[in-house]
Amino acid sequence: MMARMPDTKTVNTTCPYCGVGCGIKASRDRDGSVSVTGDPTHPANFGRLCSKGVALGETVDLEGRLLAPEIDDAPATWDAALSLVAERFNTAIAEHGPDSVAFYVSGQLLTEDYYVANKLMKGFIGSANIDTNSRLCMASSVAGHRRAFGSDTVPGCYEDLELADLIVLVGSNLAWCHPVLHQRILAAKSARPDMKLVVIDPRRTVTADIADLHLAIDPDGDVALFCGLLSHLATAGVLDEAYVADHTEGFAAALATAEIALPQILAQTGLTSHEIEHFYELFATTEKAVTLYSQGVNQSVCGTDKVNAIINCHLATGRIGRPGMGPFSITGQPNAMGGREVGGLANMLACHMELEREDHRTLVQDFWQSPAIPDRAGLKAVDLFQAMAEGRIKALWIMATNPVDSLPDADEVKAAIASCPFVVVSDLLAKTDSTQNAQVKLPSAAWGEKDGTVTNSERRISRQRAFLPLPGEARPDWWQLAQVARRMGHAEAFSYPDVASIFREYAALSAYDNAGTRDLDIGACADMSSEAYDRLQSFQWPRPKGGPAGQTRFFAQGGFYTANRKARFIPVTPTTELLADKSHQLLLNSGRVRDHWHTMTRTGKSAQLSAHTSEPFAELHPEDAMRLGVSEASIVEVSSGAQKVCLRAMITRRQKPGRLFVPMHWNDLFASAARINTLVPPVTDPYSGQPALKNAHVSVRPFKAAVYGFAVSAEKPDPGDCDYWALARCKGGWRLEFALAEHMPAIEAFALRLFGLGAGLQPETLAYSDRQKNDSRQAGFDAGRLLYALYLASEPVVVSRLWAVGQLTGDHSQRQSRYRIIAGRPGEDGHDPGATVCSCFGVGAKDIVTAVRAGCASVDEIGRVLNAGTNCGSCRSEIQEIVNGQRVLAAE
Ligand code: SF4
Repeated sequence: MMARMPDTKTVNTTCPYCGVGCGIKASRDRDGSVSVTGDPTHPANFGRLCSKGVALGETVDLEGRLLAPEIDDAPATWDAALSLVAERFNTAIAEHGPDSVAFYVSGQLLTEDYYVANKLMKGFIGSANIDTNSRLCMASSVAGHRRAFGSDTVPGCYEDLELADLIVLVGSNLAWCHPVLHQRILAAKSARPDMKLVVIDPRRTVTADIADLHLAIDPDGDVALFCGLLSHLATAGVLDEAYVADHTEGFAAALATAEIALPQILAQTGLTSHEIEHFYELFATTEKAVTLYSQGVNQSVCGTDKVNAIINCHLATGRIGRPGMGPFSITGQPNAMGGREVGGLANMLACHMELEREDHRTLVQDFWQSPAIPDRAGLKAVDLFQAMAEGRIKALWIMATNPVDSLPDADEVKAAIASCPFVVVSDLLAKTDSTQNAQVKLPSAAWGEKDGTVTNSERRISRQRAFLPLPGEARPDWWQLAQVARRMGHAEAFSYPDVASIFREYAALSAYDNAGTRDLDIGACADMSSEAYDRLQSFQWPRPKGGPAGQTRFFAQGGFYTANRKARFIPVTPTTELLADKSHQLLLNSGRVRDHWHTMTRTGKSAQLSAHTSEPFAELHPEDAMRLGVSEASIVEVSSGAQKVCLRAMITRRQKPGRLFVPMHWNDLFASAARINTLVPPVTDPYSGQPALKNAHVSVRPFKAAVYGFAVSAEKPDPGDCDYWALARCKGGWRLEFALAEHMPAIEAFALRLFGLGAGLQPETLAYSDRQKNDSRQAGFDAGRLLYALYLASEPVVVSRLWAVGQLTGDHSQRQSRYRIIAGRPGEDGHDPGATVCSCFGVGAKDIVTAVRAGCASVDEIGRVLNAGTNCGSCRSEIQEIVNGQRVLAAE
């Protein structure tokens, strides 16, 4: 049952963050710390890692871990907890039917976990009420693939991004969200400077900074843009007529729908005719073109139509499945693809089979020898929690995800979970925003402790291997599911001796009665021994038994998985309506920052990662800021209806006027009110059920702060009653930003409240106060160690954050050093690096500016002098931006 611990100290495993799926070499050192490096042999990354991958070792400690099962917040035995879960699920099913229970799972699960969860729900409970947070990520791509190809097939591979002459990134901030893939593209572009990069994104992101063409498209203008492109391709005479005739159907209807007038395209995209013509010309004249798209496409009310508008252009030109060509959906999560493969979505069966098809249902039920199989889709994520609010779900099991933060209408989701009669949460952590209302908490194995497989965005299956022992009573998710299934009366079907046996079963099902009729076939792994599974090298599927290995692409010669094996052009019509309620002032877009992941349950532990962006923020255009009376670095309230969040204002021309960008990560553990999805209405794409997370109307107004504060402290402070606060890890302790709505407090009492120094500690304090300027500072020392430094002011506190954080690990025995802390700046000989740019080497923006002024003219030269950008490379785009900015200044 348990994960096999490897014999060697270093194991080859896979990164648990994004859909690039980088290979990692991980080891546990003698002192218990974990070392992580990129695996030079892994074909996804060839040794590269981004900042998140590099810092994985900082996230595997046991702080905050759930280490034993709990029932009603009290420790319980596994037997008691599992038996209670089985009993309550069985009771709900007996009294209210199978559709009264649900699983809400995650792209963080391994494929084997997913497989067992799906088998239990669909095959043995007899409901399809299992959905996943991948619904929020790529459900529109799945729906688009199935409409066009008849299967959820990603046709290409990463190598295509290096072979292409034109890469079109749509709705993707690749530099921050899939950094290693971005680095591969940059390396290819550096070797072949003629290679062109087009970025289509409403925001000017760091990815857009290095593009040959950035189209700052209006939200949801993509359908109009790609309809116009299809029409242009036909007019320009660059269609692949033989491919269209031999391998597709429905072209004439799709083209007729796509023929929209230029003024409508301009109106819907917000672009100029010159920009559009430039893009269309590039695409028409470049055969080797890849269109890579991500959440900006998927997280939309018309996400599926966007996907099909893109695919239509590739089918029309026959640019699919050949080297350097194709539409390419890049997934956000490490195992979104694995979940799709084994039926983690409420509208899919296992192994890419379809619930709607009787032959598929019969095949799966026969293979599983199961008592039931649903003949209709279950509740998709948003619908599932709405059904819960209506009292239709009586028992819920959440695994490895935090829906209270990540789903739209997040406070309603929280209330729905609170109203559900029985909630089980399997998680690593004892306390997340979603564990609060769980009657049963089950401690899961974390990355580094669990064993199984994941599939990345190019269909590459890789092993995640354990290199750490299971702590406390933590157990893998598949084991928890199998144990509950056995207690529900399905012992025989869930008697897996180890994780390899689950993988073998999945592989056998993929091949069962397949014979080339389905895309997903890994039958070659069906008889694999557990030892061979341990040694399994990453591979791209398909890998049929006895068939040729090494097929990396699909559809160059047609062979789609529709009834007549032809691809379907899908006629799509641009959306003419933006989301309702235009009385609000700005359109809200949300997304990732470079160094955080999802709801920060892991990356929030890392001082290195928290250094880059340590506070939730709202990016808005200077015109909007002026109109709304918002000043740089002040606090703003962003609201929708009764819902409100508080964020730091960042004024930037990266936004268009009328738009607002807010990161998706912050939750109630790290900020007073920054759960941005509380403002997003539960509007979904009609085909995929994916929520439109990037297009909500919100109001913005200044938060009237009487006091701004900043603090660093060795111990975690308690900012509980500050009106605004954001907390982050830093080297040597914590950093805190806060604001108060009312008058300046007495600093001594306030420091006592924040830092709670009551436990016999009598710090030596140093203070300064200028009542006229409303400026108060205090620092507390224990011998030469800084315990805290607290700064209060009536304006945003002007203290170099990185320098202040550095003082927590410095020696402050000398009076001079203590005065500097009160002054809030380094002395003449001190060093202020500025805002963190390179997390790996702690290099700040001021360091880079100094280096440029001293003669460094390129990112590589900066790297040689400062090391910045030479490890993970995630910051190279930001370094380039600073270099460019200094060049402009020098030229003025
Ligand atoms: Fe992990 Fe970064 Fe690779 Fe994504 S790009 S898999 S986050 S190392």
